[in-house]
Amino acid sequence: MDANEEVLAPASILVSAGRQPRLPGSGVNAPLEFSSTYHADGPVDYARAGNPTWTAFEQALGAIEGGSALVFSSGMAAIAAALSVAPALSVAPAGVNPVSVPPAPSGEPHPAVIVAPHHAYSGTGAILESFEQAGRAILRRVDISDTAAVIAALDGADVLWAESPTNPMLEVADLPRIFEAARAVGAVACCDNTFATPLVQQPLSLGADIVVHSVTKYLAGHSDVILGATITADSDHGRRLHEALIHHRLLHGAIAGPMETWLALRGMRTMHLRVERSSANATVLAARLQGHPAVQKVRYPGFGSIIAIEVHGGLQGAETVAAQVRLWTHATSLGGVESLIERRGRHPSEPSTVPENLLRLSVGVEDVEDLWRDLGAALACLTPSG
Ligand SMILES: *Cc1c(COP(=O)(O)O)cnc(C)c1O
Repeated sequence: MDANEEVLAPASILVSAGRQPRLPGSGVNAPLEFSSTYHADGPVDYARAGNPTWTAFEQALGAIEGGSALVFSSGMAAIAAALSVAPALSVAPAGVNPVSVPPAPSGEPHPAVIVAPHHAYSGTGAILESFEQAGRAILRRVDISDTAAVIAALDGADVLWAESPTNPMLEVADLPRIFEAARAVGAVACCDNTFATPLVQQPLSLGADIVVHSVTKYLAGHSDVILGATITADSDHGRRLHEALIHHRLLHGAIAGPMETWLALRGMRTMHLRVERSSANATVLAARLQGHPAVQKVRYPGFGSIIAIEVHGGLQGAETVAAQVRLWTHATSLGGVESLIERRGRHPSEPSTVPENLLRLSVGVEDVEDLWRDLGAALACLTPSG
């Protein structure tokens, strides 16, 4: 199908990309190959460098995101790789902003200036802080939905890290404008597209240089694997980033297991159906929650399957709702077929700006009336009549 991919709709790409050549008797699905080494003199010698199951997955993900994909052992491994290679490939002229960038002691590398959202995935926030503590980065945290603030912070920056919508506050960034501003200063623009999925937005087409995914979530979609990926543009700069990411994966060794990769590709075949249903469910639930007497505030960007609500009764009120649901599951994570609910403030790593009574809802593909009845019964515990 490769020659036709550009003209196919996303649903058709998800079903058809990364298939085997159509030879009589060959499998319709990619092989699940468990082999650490290969007969000498072929394209791959050793499986830390490549595996046919990875290749199939990477072809499919690259086709749906519009670039070249690499699979990693987790979303965090992909994020760590992107943050490690991006500063060196920034084309920002050093010392553009000498006021805020202290001079590096002679002989030491200049720390990367990284602009990142206040509200990002908590692991991303934590790794950025560890880079800062190690002297590898100078962080500028911004409200990613405040375009003027992002553009101002980009002066002299090496890397822009974007997440939109953000976790768990669901702020939405003006991605084309901030990516353009990153390009203007020579910064590498990275975008975590886990929440949105490539069905909602394709950041490479909006000007990003590196897209990262926690494949664990919507792409794999069944809460049964942990996996990550990077995708880079098919431009000269994108290819340099891709080569640097391949090198990083080979040397640091955060490689994906063939079984996980195969399951993720199997999950991706139905992502459009799952996301279509879970988004439709979320739209109905967000509208009903808006008028609910136990709910103070509903955050829903108008697309996607994540809703954040703030409930009456503070921290305890939120814990009560999470404990009372029966069809929904009280658990962290998102993007699976099953609906999950979680009070985000229970994680010490969550920024203090995330309200303690905020519940994140990852809406699944169950029947929407069953979901509403169950959530409604849990919320009724917070109102006097309930
Ligand atoms: C879960 C998640 C990650 C981390 O991915 P893992 O696969 O758990 O390592 C990164 N970013 C976002 C937005 C996530 O939701």
